[in-house]
Amino acid sequence: MLHTIAGFDRIGEENAFAVLARANELAGQGREIINLGIGQPDFRTPEHIVEAAIKALRDGHHGYTAATGIAPLREAVAADLLRRHGTETDPGNVMIVPGGKVTMFMAILMFGEPGANILYPDPGFPIYRSMIEFTGARPIPVPIREENDFAFSADETLSLITDKTRLLILNSPANPTGGVTPRSEIEKLAAGLDRYPDVAVLSDEIYSQMTYDGMEHVSLLEFQGLRDRLILLDGWSKTYAMTGWRMGFSLWPDALIDKARKLAVNAWSCVNAPAQYAGLAALTGPQDAVGAMVAEFDTRRKVVVEGLNAIEGISCRTPLGAFYAYPNIKNTGWQAKKLAAALLEEAGVAVIGGPDFGVLGEGYIRLSYANSTQNIKTALEKIDSFLKKTT
Ligand code: PLP
Repeated sequence: MLHTIAGFDRIGEENAFAVLARANELAGQGREIINLGIGQPDFRTPEHIVEAAIKALRDGHHGYTAATGIAPLREAVAADLLRRHGTETDPGNVMIVPGGKVTMFMAILMFGEPGANILYPDPGFPIYRSMIEFTGARPIPVPIREENDFAFSADETLSLITDKTRLLILNSPANPTGGVTPRSEIEKLAAGLDRYPDVAVLSDEIYSQMTYDGMEHVSLLEFQGLRDRLILLDGWSKTYAMTGWRMGFSLWPDALIDKARKLAVNAWSCVNAPAQYAGLAALTGPQDAVGAMVAEFDTRRKVVVEGLNAIEGISCRTPLGAFYAYPNIKNTGWQAKKLAAALLEEAGVAVIGGPDFGVLGEGYIRLSYANSTQNIKTALEKIDSFLKKTT
């Protein structure tokens, strides 16, 4: 009998990958499946970025790099943060990581241990809770409510902080809801956090460039009072359609950057060198592909929201960010996970049940609209006729 640590009795995973596997299995059996389950852009990485990786390989960038990433890339990240958030940062506090997820992994490992509380959004990205539980810390859900347009409530978030709280995880624009927390609420939250100087903040801004209807993404980086305890998570996966490259970046306060570097040295040494050159081309090259992708998501967003609201028993708020719709399905009478499973098996449409994102997820499903408009329309018709047949 092998005795692994107790964390493995508690660690979770992302059901989106299990749904993807099942969707692929069904497709392999010849079934027509439309996948609105997995959260990744359906676009190719822009060509100039691909070319930069090929060039890096040809130029001989085959070795290890600094654990925190190549210097020009860290400088480009600092320039990008300045351009987008109007805030100066030191490239020495930037770390290149193998995917945005790795930043949360590191941050939660740094602060999680038995006796500590970590606050995280519910519904939210499932890895937050999974990793918190792994460390033995107590996960404290911060409710993200439909009636609040799926934004964080500053008052409710602050009210959950106790002397045991070590880390607060924020995410806007958000997965799975598409909610974007408005400036007024973020300002209130940042001001309230002044009262808790020992609480670190992990701001997951992986969807920072995906907002709609003129909604502004407000980075926690803007708040000087948080700078000595803010970990900023962002990356290339969603913005540049680079999920498979495994490229993310984070900004760490002075007190943590060296700890982050040591974790990297212990685990992955450095991020794949040619991918770092691709990341550099993404940040320093033309940005039109980003705008074009977001414009396309915006068109589809309208199609998905209108289509969902036309289905009996379903109501969907208009998401203001990311590429997810998170409709309320309570009036269909279905349990969310059962509906998601039945839609995949019987209607050939992959979606994710809300409970996969937290205890507040019952009564909701998540649809990713990172798929063609035609596929989205067909999927909505299939959902509609499935519900008509079964309810
Ligand atoms: N944070 C959120 C909220 C996400 O939805 C995702 C991916 O789905 C990530 C982080 C991880 O991104 P990456 O693929 O760069 O690890």
